[in-house]
Amino acid sequence: MALKTPEQYVQSLRDGRVTYWDGERIDDITKHPRFRVPIATTAQDYDYDDPKLGALRRFRTEAGHEAHRIYQVPRSEEDLAKRIELLAHTGIGTAVSGVYMALMSVKDQVAAVNPQYAENIERMYRYCRDNDLRAAEVITDPKGDRKRRAHEQDDPDLYVRIVSRNNDGIVVRGAKLHITAASVIHELVVMPTKGMRQDETDYAVSFSIPVATKGVSIINRSFAPAELNAFDYPASSHHSMPEGFVVFDDVFVPWDRVFLAGEVQLASKLAQSLGLWERTGGVIAAVESSELFVGLAQLVTEMQGKESDMVAQASIAELITYAQMLKMSLDYACRHYEHTASGMVYPNTLAINAAKYYYAANYHQTVRYLHDLSGGLVLTLPLESDLRNPESGKFIRKYLYTKSNVDVETRMRVYNLIRDLTADAYGGWHFVVALQAGGGLSAQRFMMNRTYDIAGAKAKALAAAGAG
Ligand SMILES: Cc1cc2nc3c(=O)[nH]c(=O)nc-3n(C[C@H](O)[C@H](O)[C@H](O)COP(=O)(O)OP(=O)(O)OC[C@H]3O[C@@H](n4cnc5c(N)ncnc54)[C@H](O)[C@@H]3O)c2cc1C
Repeated sequence: MALKTPEQYVQSLRDGRVTYWDGERIDDITKHPRFRVPIATTAQDYDYDDPKLGALRRFRTEAGHEAHRIYQVPRSEEDLAKRIELLAHTGIGTAVSGVYMALMSVKDQVAAVNPQYAENIERMYRYCRDNDLRAAEVITDPKGDRKRRAHEQDDPDLYVRIVSRNNDGIVVRGAKLHITAASVIHELVVMPTKGMRQDETDYAVSFSIPVATKGVSIINRSFAPAELNAFDYPASSHHSMPEGFVVFDDVFVPWDRVFLAGEVQLASKLAQSLGLWERTGGVIAAVESSELFVGLAQLVTEMQGKESDMVAQASIAELITYAQMLKMSLDYACRHYEHTASGMVYPNTLAINAAKYYYAANYHQTVRYLHDLSGGLVLTLPLESDLRNPESGKFIRKYLYTKSNVDVETRMRVYNLIRDLTADAYGGWHFVVALQAGGGLSAQRFMMNRTYDIAGAKAKALAAAGAG
């Protein structure tokens, strides 16, 4: 029942977990250079004494002890606002533990079908909260041929499934792909990727197990190499996180860790509950980055003496529109919150899906304005090592000069951030993440069609047409 220190978190990862990266089986991830940045990023969120963020990271549970706020179930608009503030200042290795918010938000519906599963959700939530553990969102199956359902695939394991059951628990087989931070957290929280039909009962499965469970192995991949310097890569040198290709090779899960085992009517509810919180996280990150884009665009424009140019001003206005629309949407989603029967507050479903859609559908075009303003140096700026070499450095300082109030090194830092965020490996990662993380565009379209007041809109249209 205690908060962990950053050191205790690092120590807790030495548990025999099976991980691979670059063809190598890694026995102790805490000593491997590949994991240095991801573990350091996640460890930061265990710093409860941080003068700026320590208080934001903690909350007092109903039992009277302190826990990480990522586990605070929002009960009011203020709680929700605090959660949004927390997520804006939290690494992805911690933010993914929000998977427990998704489970808690469907607990009432799960209880109506099987009270034991709901009890398991509550107990596992408290276990993770009270032991200061982190959990991953383990949803996306390989899915094989998208035209065919889970049980119709040539290989029956292309969606995670139950292969046997006994008095003690279930045995599962399959894989989940793209799982953010899977190797650096403690619990893998598995859920169905979508709704399942009556003949797919073995695929309607959800549970939580420790990463080091027998039969689990994780193959890692990240956009970032082991080391990047902070001058040339101001964002990705301290933000990288591997995604995991997580394999469940006949893994035993005891009944007290099972949240769903065959009740197909719950599969889509679980899948959708996570979608909402994932998309909320995506929108929060987009609010932050879109504001950065405005600042970067204004800086490069001023540094190059283009601030009175009409085209530059029009481009910046486009970037401002994008940033402001996202900020207002998030604000609306929190003010018009919804709640479960037992009083858990969550962001407005329609507003979050519309915001995530707007963010994803317009991301690439919006970044284009920043690239257009910035010019070719986004890609061709010399490296810090050449700046520091006196022979080459003197030429770089001479020819990157624009005017007396612009420091060349600051100008380089601005360009490096633009490239790192939008045009290099991390930028490429963002281009795909904007679209796919939290589900592709069609996932949000589907939710908007389901949650918009279409009947009300139809009635208004009929009335306006004089037929209502
Ligand atoms: C960096 C990153 C991090 C991620 N982190 C996580 C994570 O932590 N946990 C997790 O569970 N997932 C995670 N994801 C996975 C993400 O949710 C999926 O990539 C996304 O839902 C799309 O699924 P897919 O990749 O299987 O592609 P597909 O299912 O192939 O989808 C690609 C496109 O095809 C469309 N499509 C799919 N099926 C059909 C069909 N039958 N007919 C017509 N069109 C179809 C989709 O709508 C979409 O537009 C992550 C993804 C990325 C890129």
